[in-house]
Amino acid sequence: MDSKKTMTDKYMNTGYGPVFQHVDIGHENYVGLIQPDTAFWTLVRKDELGNIVGDKKFMDEFKRKSGKYGREMENLRFNLKASAVYFNPTDRCNFNCTYCYIPEKMRKHGSHMSREKIFQALEKLKKYFKKTVPKGRKPQIIFHGAEPLMNKGAVFAGIEKFSNDFDFGIQTNASLLDDEAIDFVLKHKVGVGISIDGPNPEVADKLRRDWKGDGYSRNFSHIIERLKDHPGFNVICTITTENMKHLSKTVDYFHKVGVKVCMLNIIRCTQKKSRTVKPDDAIAAEHFIKALDRTWELYKKTGRKLIVANFANILLAIVAPSGRRLMCDISPCGGGRCFFAISANGDMFPCSEFVGVPEFNGGNLFKDDVDAVLKTEMFRQVSERKVEEIVPCNTCAIRHFCGSPCPAEAYTMNNKDIKNPGAFCEFYEEQVRYAFRLIADGKEKDFLWAGWDKDMN
Ligand code: SF4
Ligand code: SF4
Repeated sequence: MDSKKTMTDKYMNTGYGPVFQHVDIGHENYVGLIQPDTAFWTLVRKDELGNIVGDKKFMDEFKRKSGKYGREMENLRFNLKASAVYFNPTDRCNFNCTYCYIPEKMRKHGSHMSREKIFQALEKLKKYFKKTVPKGRKPQIIFHGAEPLMNKGAVFAGIEKFSNDFDFGIQTNASLLDDEAIDFVLKHKVGVGISIDGPNPEVADKLRRDWKGDGYSRNFSHIIERLKDHPGFNVICTITTENMKHLSKTVDYFHKVGVKVCMLNIIRCTQKKSRTVKPDDAIAAEHFIKALDRTWELYKKTGRKLIVANFANILLAIVAPSGRRLMCDISPCGGGRCFFAISANGDMFPCSEFVGVPEFNGGNLFKDDVDAVLKTEMFRQVSERKVEEIVPCNTCAIRHFCGSPCPAEAYTMNNKDIKNPGAFCEFYEEQVRYAFRLIADGKEKDFLWAGWDKDMN
């Protein structure tokens, strides 16, 4: 068998040879040539494509590198251990944003986790992560929403008590981030992500308002001024029908006020209400790419980068797969394997995106063994959802740069069948094409943070 294999694997696309797909990346001179299973790729001049099909040197290079690429991909996809938790310390939120993935009833009438329960939860997680996180590294706890600062006293007490055991982060709508809270997060080196959906209150407050209908964005400048040099600070903008035309202006605003890292995340359509502001795939991609171009222009003009972290992650998936930091664009995604989510009563879900989908409740942190929950059918449906089992992703050349997110929306949008693509195939396709165009033009480093190639794990 082996000798037969050696004899017949010298050609691509026949016999035992590797299957390559060529991809139009929208570049004047180059096309992509990708071996999808290992995510090995090269860019080829269009007028050279015919030659490379029979190029022995190219095939030898592929054979030399494919084992390493394959092992790296296998490791990322199947061998990572949990090292983070998205922790909802309250069900409640003082906002009623249209696209929230937590159901309205829960945000209005849900409960807070008590201080004692937060301590108990962190104690249990500390013990659990001793088994999964290598010595010298800290697991991460991200207090998430609903609005975590609705339960600020208990959250801050937890951070103080366990500051030696975890790296902490808070994702907040910023409305309760007063000067005292900012002093606290700076002192305790807590990462802070705040949500801003546009360059001015008319856009930013359109879908993000409190229960009375008031927006909050008029207060952002002061918060950003205080946090802009904090290493763990970032801003998230969710792309919807209501703000996609303003994305370039939004990055102008972020850059002007000194934001260094932002995310321009396409809306997740897990909850029905979100779908009312779901933008068209292709149009959203067009605005997104214009905004990325704009960050580049700003960088060239001022020497100061504004990193769009979700796009940087896709670039990394191509140039340095192990360096990626976010886990939506890999298959299986990070949900239920690299991290999990805890709701305010301790219920465990594969990811925050599933907190409003009760059938994915795999157990309770206060009652169940964490490992046993990670092995439940509810978790495995997510942690074992593979692109190879999803149509059309199974034949898509860029399947390991996209990962076919998101299982939560795939599930709720497709009659509870998780083995479907999510809501934005074309949006991801266009990002990958754009990333390859940047590589073809030698611009990719301009979109990555300094030292991106040094801090890969
Ligand atoms: S793809 Fe969806 S479920 Fe997976 S990590 Fe991202 S948001 Fe969570
Ligand atoms: S969602 Fe679309 S771009 Fe992503 S892997 Fe599937 S087919 Fe490819």
